[in-house]
Amino acid sequence: MGSRKVTSSEPSDWQGKHVTVAGLGVSGIPAAKVLHARGANVTVVNDGDDARAREQAAELEALGITVRLGDGATLPEGSELVVTAPGWKPDKPLFAAAREAGLEIWGDVELAWRLRGPDAAPWLAITGTNGKTTTTQMLASILKAAGLRTAAVGNIGVSLLDAVLGDEQYDVLAVELSSYQLHWAPSLRAHSAAVLNLAPDHLDWHGSMEAYAADKGRIYEGNRVACVYNVADKATEDLVREADVEEGCRAVGFTLGTPGPSQLGVVEGILVDRAFVEDRHKNAQELAEISDVHPPAPHNIANALAAAALARAFGVPARAVRDGLRDFTPDAHRIAHVADVDAVAYVDDSKATNTHAAEASLAAYESIVWIAGGLAKGATFDELVTKSAKRLRGVVLIGQDRALIREALARHAPEVPVVDLDRTDTGAMLAAVQEASRLAVAGDTVLLAPACASMDMFANYNKRGDAFAEAVRELGS
Ligand code: ADP
Repeated sequence: MGSRKVTSSEPSDWQGKHVTVAGLGVSGIPAAKVLHARGANVTVVNDGDDARAREQAAELEALGITVRLGDGATLPEGSELVVTAPGWKPDKPLFAAAREAGLEIWGDVELAWRLRGPDAAPWLAITGTNGKTTTTQMLASILKAAGLRTAAVGNIGVSLLDAVLGDEQYDVLAVELSSYQLHWAPSLRAHSAAVLNLAPDHLDWHGSMEAYAADKGRIYEGNRVACVYNVADKATEDLVREADVEEGCRAVGFTLGTPGPSQLGVVEGILVDRAFVEDRHKNAQELAEISDVHPPAPHNIANALAAAALARAFGVPARAVRDGLRDFTPDAHRIAHVADVDAVAYVDDSKATNTHAAEASLAAYESIVWIAGGLAKGATFDELVTKSAKRLRGVVLIGQDRALIREALARHAPEVPVVDLDRTDTGAMLAAVQEASRLAVAGDTVLLAPACASMDMFANYNKRGDAFAEAVRELGS
């Protein structure tokens, strides 16, 4: 971990500055409006030219903003800065032209960071392949329990621009950041930040695992108080080591085991802090009990420890950590217990849309009938099946890429019974749940943790989880 001083390079005067906003959409439209209101000369470029885009364009044009539909590739003449939607791939010709012209390219997070006022609230930032939303919400809950004015913002669905420019005053923000957002946020400097874990995801966008990791690692750049990493995931610690941080900033690990000095961990069912205590070589501070964390699955305890570490880095007392965790329940479809039917628990983790998430979910139960499948997004399942095989009572496969999972099961767990459902109609989830109930015995858990995206059969993971819950209700009635 190196250290250096950070200087701000905010352009203080937007008047007449030619800004290209790439992408109409949830981040582009507010960005265009805000910059226009500050006097910038804004041109929005957009690939699409459909009815919706025209409607949005008309609204912006009425304000005096130029909009160019159907061509998101060419850099408008005279551009001095590009502000892009975070999802735009870095290899687009627009960006090549911008770089060629020596322009900076900012994403939505960078824009919010640059536009925040001089007394703006510090950011506690969270990224990782899985667990971001849950951990960010846990952190906000802990900060609130400490009496701080805060909100969970960012990739979580609450625009950072709104948060930093709105009327509401905050003491601190709990900020979820995606790897895309981090890619386009070169000058972001969080108070403290955490990378929860790192597993291959979105590699088509980033180009390689190294590039993906490097973008995640940007979250640590310029941290002031703590870089929080996962002791069980060495890649996260490596990112801390590579980061340039402010003088005095500390590396703080979290672990499900007994914590060493400068770590948070678990001792006999108690979450403890050995980082933010006096004389961390001798002392530890009890924070909460495992039963204060909902649900108390191992990966969720890890999330709680990461949230606690960031809160403690901000000076939050131990009691608020406990109260904040107690008050918190995860969003729907994240290891949600739906019902018990005939002494079998039915759990909806539809949000487990990749193998890393599904692995965490499967590790939380002893004997499982696993419902999996959907769109694999290029993933392989050998490692997941190998690690989880001993917990599987049976498997029910659904969705387009189910053969990939079936083949991995045949290779690594040939003794596990598999039902391969060749159905994609609306009744398919009911059939899957019925098959699962036949395989399950009392004490088992039927777990929907598909390790795949849902869009082959459902509008999104929410709908997939709803269909599961509906099927369980039907089973029980
Ligand atoms: P994200 O915002 O990163 O997608 P969420 O908090 O929404 O994360 O959780 C998504 C899914 O990832 C959960 O349903 C669960 O299956 C899994 N998950 C949550 N936390 C972790 C973790 N720490 N490690 C691995 N998987 C996790």
